[in-house]
Amino acid sequence: MDKCSAAALRPDISRVLEAQSILEVAVAAPVMGVFDYRAPHTTDGPLQLGQRVRVPFGRGTRLGWLVGSKAASDLPEHRLRRVLSVLDAEPLLPPDLLRMLVWASRYYQQPLGEVLGAALPKALREGRDIAQGEMHWALSAEGRSADPDILRRAPAQLRIHAALRACAAPATAADLEVVSSNWRRALAALAARGWITAGRATAVLPIADIAPDRPPVLTADQVQAVAQINAAQGFQCFLLDGVTGSGKTEVYLRCIAQALAANRQSLVLVPEIGLTPQLLERFQRRFPVPIALLHSGLSDGERLRAFTAASDGSAAIIIGTRSAIFAPLLRPGLVIADEEHDPSYKQQEGWRYSARDLAVWRARELGVPLVLGSATPSLETIENAHSGRYTRLVLASRTGAAGQPRVSLIDLRQHAAREGLTQPLLAAIRRHLDAGGQVLIYLNRRGYAPVLMCPACGHVLECKRCDARMVLHQQRGQLACHHCGSERPVPAACPDCAGELKPVGQGTERLERALAAAFPDQQIERIDRDTTRRRGEIERRLNRVRKEEARILMGTQMLTKGHDFPRVTLVGIIDADQGLFGSDFRSAERLAQSFVQVAGRAGRAEHPGEVCLQTLFPEHPLLRVLITDGYAQFAS
Ligand code: ADP
Ligand code: ZN
Repeated sequence: MDKCSAAALRPDISRVLEAQSILEVAVAAPVMGVFDYRAPHTTDGPLQLGQRVRVPFGRGTRLGWLVGSKAASDLPEHRLRRVLSVLDAEPLLPPDLLRMLVWASRYYQQPLGEVLGAALPKALREGRDIAQGEMHWALSAEGRSADPDILRRAPAQLRIHAALRACAAPATAADLEVVSSNWRRALAALAARGWITAGRATAVLPIADIAPDRPPVLTADQVQAVAQINAAQGFQCFLLDGVTGSGKTEVYLRCIAQALAANRQSLVLVPEIGLTPQLLERFQRRFPVPIALLHSGLSDGERLRAFTAASDGSAAIIIGTRSAIFAPLLRPGLVIADEEHDPSYKQQEGWRYSARDLAVWRARELGVPLVLGSATPSLETIENAHSGRYTRLVLASRTGAAGQPRVSLIDLRQHAAREGLTQPLLAAIRRHLDAGGQVLIYLNRRGYAPVLMCPACGHVLECKRCDARMVLHQQRGQLACHHCGSERPVPAACPDCAGELKPVGQGTERLERALAAAFPDQQIERIDRDTTRRRGEIERRLNRVRKEEARILMGTQMLTKGHDFPRVTLVGIIDADQGLFGSDFRSAERLAQSFVQVAGRAGRAEHPGEVCLQTLFPEHPLLRVLITDGYAQFAS
């Protein structure tokens, strides 16, 4: 393992491997270490680091990657097997990416073959050819002018013909699958008549047809930040520290503009929830260039196309969520990680990497500047800025007229909450709605109630697998464990004494009802994982808010990230104590981040903002610091 890593890690090493030597191959298998092979009998071109190969492994064959070579193996000659074939003329993983992945495999103690595999789109991991775009089909001139009546007896052919005639663009397998499950045979029959042309999708991305924007005049802070980043020579790490609405994205755009002017690509990482159509549109308005998107919602074909566009240089900007950190770049110029503190940069399954941490490695390997943006930087990043490893750039104030929001605490000991809502909060909501503002209500607990209990005997319903309390989801009629995900139907009565079960505490589902009862003439948009399961649902909901069809917006953590609600003037935090007493200071950090992020929504531009926090502990030092000094004070 270590010898190979040395080869792949040394930046000066030639990418071309000696065909006479022993090849080291990282095999796509859950085993640590790399394996020795002899070179294949024949090769088309030179053997290069990072090329995919097919090798005999155990009783079968596997995909693998060339990661090094050496003069001799520790294995006896007769036990060495040969590489069967080399799959790529040019390596798919450029040297910088290969080095980062070798490092990551050591750092995260993860088999190298698996790490390399995780960096590639599924199609390539399965051995497909990068040059092969997705197949697509269209009607030939003959097929277009033919009389479909002769297909009367072949209904599948008739349907395919009609579909292809109706399509403006060539159809893919997925398109045709919808038309007929028998499409392959029907298509072959049509092709036999000479009616079909076949091709492969190219990686070229379209340029959006959107009216360009007019860039604003930068604030003094923004000018400073842009100048420093653009002056960086090679790798340098910047922390762009600015509250939401302070113009961080504008800074990114200016730095990307400089990269574009130098004919360089920019890689922009955003948290899962930050990759909204609005964000993409903002980039498209500014830059009439091909932009590749990489996120988990893509089909295999789309992902391969975006990957290829990044690697062949046809995409000038690559925007994506955490796995975009593996996008190969032909002519890299800049790496940005927006909202660098966001937990969605951490991959939680399989190989658990942090895309933010990998971004630091990647930018160093690429020799380009890295910008980490946040209103609430993680403590590691703040530490790196203090020690001078990162250059800290501060955007001290918001753009536009609004100052910091006014923060007030509502003491739950003095004001009883009914269904989670106190009179002062209800009054504030009414006041802001009457003044034409929008209201955002934050409660980071989904479901109807966090506890279902029997008041008669005190029995509380718990998860059978992990002892956590089961959360009541009334709409679905289920009890759900938010730890392990197990669910079961709500029992009709207490399993111990047959008494009546009562929901205790507030979840978003219950709060939505309470708000609907208090404000019957208002439409309410609830945003949490339960209401946004369907694809596109979160956008539909947010759009209704942006268009002011709904004026009350409520939900969980999902609301605190990256969204811009210019007309929200009040943020209500139902339970400020959630997290105050977490066992670790991380939870306090996260709490503070959430509050300031939410508060950052209140009162942008010309509307002054207000934040109300309901708490049982108005003297808690963390809350006091938050309301008097803001997040910067808390974190220093
Ligand atoms: P952030 O990314 O920090 O949330 P944005 O860059 O999205 O901030 O800026 C917030 C809003 O202010 C956006 O609507 C943006 O167009 C606008 N904005 C940014 N910089 C300026 C500026 N210098 N002058 C006027 N408006 C600006
Ligand atoms: Zn459980």
